[in-house]
Amino acid sequence: MASTSYQEIKDSLQRLYLDDPRPWLVGFSGGKDSTMLASLLFEAVLAVPVEQRKKEIAILCTDTRVEIPAIVETIEATLARMHKLSQQNALNIEVNLLKPPPEQSFWVNIIGRGYPPPNRTFRWCTQRMKIDPVNVFVQQRLGHWGEAILHLGARRNESSTRAQAMASRETRNGLNRHPDLPRVWVSNPIQFLTTEEVWAYLLQKPNPWGNDNRALYKLYANASNGECPIQIDTSTPSCGNSRFGCWTCTVVERDKASEGLLAAGDERMEHLIAFRETLQFYQDPDNGKRDMRRKNGAEGPGPLHIEARRELLTKLLKLQEGTGLNLISEEELLLIQKLWKSARRPDDGWGVARIVTRQKGIIMSADLKELNMLREMEDEIAREKNINPDILRRMLAKVEEYSESHRAHGLPDDLLNILKDDLAEQTAAKKG
Ligand code: SF4
Repeated sequence: MASTSYQEIKDSLQRLYLDDPRPWLVGFSGGKDSTMLASLLFEAVLAVPVEQRKKEIAILCTDTRVEIPAIVETIEATLARMHKLSQQNALNIEVNLLKPPPEQSFWVNIIGRGYPPPNRTFRWCTQRMKIDPVNVFVQQRLGHWGEAILHLGARRNESSTRAQAMASRETRNGLNRHPDLPRVWVSNPIQFLTTEEVWAYLLQKPNPWGNDNRALYKLYANASNGECPIQIDTSTPSCGNSRFGCWTCTVVERDKASEGLLAAGDERMEHLIAFRETLQFYQDPDNGKRDMRRKNGAEGPGPLHIEARRELLTKLLKLQEGTGLNLISEEELLLIQKLWKSARRPDDGWGVARIVTRQKGIIMSADLKELNMLREMEDEIAREKNINPDILRRMLAKVEEYSESHRAHGLPDDLLNILKDDLAEQTAAKKG
């Protein structure tokens, strides 16, 4: 493509900037397509006279908390440079690194709730760790803005299904209504560019914020094509095939990005790749790490059993020590402890603290005396009511979980599932 076409994209972005009053959102994943989009967009805004740079622009990037360390380091540095450029030139462009809340982190779901590591049929992670944080942010902004235009770096050339999906959407002035967010209009400024054109543009000069794209090119050179676009809704292509997925991703058979980084000398990846293989092992129901009953008591591979969760936490803390990386936060550890109390064969409330103390030599805070008194009371009530004390504890922990999140929707079903689960266990024990 001749450089005038890049110029045409910038010109049309500039026209939209000046003629349409709606604020902009920009999806940025750090991959080549969204880097290209952001470069063109910064250049377009830089070309607008300073006194007319009034539009609010929010760049959105997600960090699942289990991103590949080198990638997240690069993204953080890039966002910091973009922020500086915006400040220096009064561009009114803010950058946002959006993370899932600790309650929805990868470790809280796997080690706390016992979700099996994700696979193609049960890919629970994208919604919780990528889509929801963006949706929450967008909804908050729409509260002030009313409507917004969302720029994405999607290209038709990525795949024929993608091309068909993009071509079939209804457009108005080149914008199409977002399928899930009715007050958001989607713009795909680079939709007609080919991969070669994207690289040709990126490699001809540094980005406006000063990054040299040769490093990005090298990252791609070590693995297959395709990147994890910012996930705004479920129609976005799966990030399981991506170049820049989570280092824990068990949706892909092989994580070429991690392998590429290891080959390029990032030794931290060796341990992370080995841990990903451990997660794959724990996911396979044949390896005895999962209950053979689902959460609702039905037969079939269910959550990771409590012993498997303890093992995984021990291994994760070991990995954290070995690599010096910050892999799990204290807040996540406390949440896991709470969730273990409502698990099948619940924990005594000290399981996480014991593992942390053993691994790190740090005592986690909790009041042992109070905890013992509470357990005695629960045992007494369970005896009086002739119910299993573990079931009572699981139900109480579930109520506590809901009351802390100030919601009740779903609680009756969850309590019913615990009872059904107990019934199924009793029936199985009688048969056995
Ligand atoms: S990269 Fe893998 S683990 Fe991460 S959100 Fe996507 S599918 Fe899930």
